[in-house]
Amino acid sequence: MIEQRATRGRCAVADRRLPAGSPVPRFSGLPYACCPLPSQRERVCGRCFAQAPAAPGCLLRCSKCRWARYCSRECQAGDWQRHKRECRTLASKGGELLRLDDAPVADLLLLGRCAWRRHDASSPDDEDAAFDALETSRPTESDRALARFATTLPGLLPPSCDAGDATRLLSQFRVNNFGVTNELLSVVGAGCYPPAALLNHSCAPNAVLYYEGSRLEVRTCRDVDAGEELCHSRAAQLRERYGFECACVRCSGGRRSDEWRQDVDAAMEAPHPSLGEADCADVAAATAAAHAVWYEAEGRCLSAALLCGDNAAALECCRALVSFLEAALAHVPAHALLALQRFTLCDLELESGDAAEARRQMEACAEAVAISYGAKSALRAAARERWEELMSGGS
Ligand SMILES: [Zn+2]
Ligand SMILES: [Zn+2]
Ligand SMILES: [Zn+2]
Repeated sequence: MIEQRATRGRCAVADRRLPAGSPVPRFSGLPYACCPLPSQRERVCGRCFAQAPAAPGCLLRCSKCRWARYCSRECQAGDWQRHKRECRTLASKGGELLRLDDAPVADLLLLGRCAWRRHDASSPDDEDAAFDALETSRPTESDRALARFATTLPGLLPPSCDAGDATRLLSQFRVNNFGVTNELLSVVGAGCYPPAALLNHSCAPNAVLYYEGSRLEVRTCRDVDAGEELCHSRAAQLRERYGFECACVRCSGGRRSDEWRQDVDAAMEAPHPSLGEADCADVAAATAAAHAVWYEAEGRCLSAALLCGDNAAALECCRALVSFLEAALAHVPAHALLALQRFTLCDLELESGDAAEARRQMEACAEAVAISYGAKSALRAAARERWEELMSGGS
């Protein structure tokens, strides 16, 4: 349910006790509108976001614009009502749009889809009302520029939607929309999910977002009491794209954020950058930034080591990454990022002859995946199967 709280504003609240791994249907569901990222359009169905099983080229292609791809005739027919407007734009301007970055083009297509859907709603339903109620933010210069560009694209926007309306919608997208990820947490599309947008951000979240194709599911990642606010972490998205400053308990200082920083430093076994007399919030922000750089670099080392077949180096990197994530995500032990890293570590530990450690990692992976992806997910089945193999002494 939704409540107004004095210190938090509008917030999503659990109306009953929810054990870890519970889906929360009130905030889950299909998007108001969505589109694959331009760079992913040959691999992802434009309607349901099913991924092409093999090489690009096995999805059906819209013969008019040659841009949109679908997994089946049903998806193609089902999407036509939404696709027919942008199809004109893509047929004439597709080549031009492909020279731009993914994010602005995805924003443009999503803008068109949302604006047309709202325009076509002769009597607004609950979903339209939730869309209208999306929180607004101050438009930026780039919102305005993109909106002006949108009005020059033939058919992209309904006639009633001018540059001002488009600017307002784009500024709403910036604070409300999510990148839609696949099972391995790569962003494959952009979507507008008004009910889930009601969840506030926290760096110590009790909920995670999981996508099944384009359908979003909000799941609790730890036990949540009735009356507790449901929050998920949008820190990376918000900080990188929008210069957002978090005011939650971890970021705004206090004991917990200090403890967290020490744990992370210990895990990294590296000296902490000198920060001087900054206030607590700045310390947390700078720490997170320095760690993010290290984390990304270590991740690249791991990929390189795996590519070269240097298993010893890969094992070292992967162990460091898992220790880092265990500390950094101590408040969300079921985090999908940590689970995926454990999956890799299991193979590397086994390769190096430590079957007991491999089993331990896969067991932790399977447990986390059951919570953040769901007990019936394909990844959970894979982790479970792998773990059973390990228990029976196979590899
Ligand atoms: Zn499909
Ligand atoms: Zn088309
Ligand atoms: Zn925070």
